[in-house]
Amino acid sequence: MAQGREPRPGGALVFELDGLEVSGVSVGGVASCVDLPGLKVCVDLGVILDRTVARDVVLITHAHADHLGSLVQHVAQRGLRGLPAATYVVPPGIEEDVEALLHVWRRLDGGELAAKIHPLPPGEALRLRPDLQVRPFATAHRVPSQGYFFERVGKRLADSLTDASREEIRALREAGETVHQVVHEPLLAITGDTSIDGLRNHPEVMAAPRLIVEATFLDSRVTAESAARFGHIHLDELAALADQLTCRHLLINHVSARHGPSEARRLVAERLPAELAARTQVMVSRIRPSAD
Ligand SMILES: [Zn+2]
Repeated sequence: MAQGREPRPGGALVFELDGLEVSGVSVGGVASCVDLPGLKVCVDLGVILDRTVARDVVLITHAHADHLGSLVQHVAQRGLRGLPAATYVVPPGIEEDVEALLHVWRRLDGGELAAKIHPLPPGEALRLRPDLQVRPFATAHRVPSQGYFFERVGKRLADSLTDASREEIRALREAGETVHQVVHEPLLAITGDTSIDGLRNHPEVMAAPRLIVEATFLDSRVTAESAARFGHIHLDELAALADQLTCRHLLINHVSARHGPSEARRLVAERLPAELAARTQVMVSRIRPSAD
């Protein structure tokens, strides 16, 4: 099983999933922030990572403090660096409370703290670049929550014209007809905090080429039933879904602080079917001193 490279300054672990860099800090209940430099977005702000201050778009999975607690630092540091207000995408329904938080911070701070809070419902696409979009998908946590699904947007010759000659296609184009169709190529999905239902209900998420999934509990100290009650995933539930987890790369994050890095990797190797374990990496940050 591959391991993340040495931590970047600030403690972020770095992974490469089929040419796409994923770096971040993630410990369940403590702090999560996942940066996707190739897509120029980051997901959640439980902690500030230096590079993520430059991200113009931040996707928030839910408002628990270990995912949103450093929002104001992101906003403030962008102001200090002269960067424009970033867009913070949030699950619909929490936008007013997030605005209220920033309102209080502005009063306390005396600064502008400019931010655009953007509720985006599941299924609706946000275009990040001409060739890249993200769509939220509904997850199942204890508060409003959603995961995010990234797709490359491209064009190819319309299916109806695959047998047409170049002259026919040119004639159609000159006549103002559309000769292309838009295609969406899945790139990566990230769940944020969720019980197993938030994953099981979305076959396209389980089949994404790269999947970042939370697994807070890894062994029998917490049962799968308890994990579901807390709105989290147990490693054994991922093992049970192995046949449907057809992603090429699985990256587990949000592991409970009770598991150190080497223990987490051992449990993943032991408890997932070997074929799935071979495609799986684990992001376990050392935020607290631990025995291993
Ligand atoms: Zn949470």
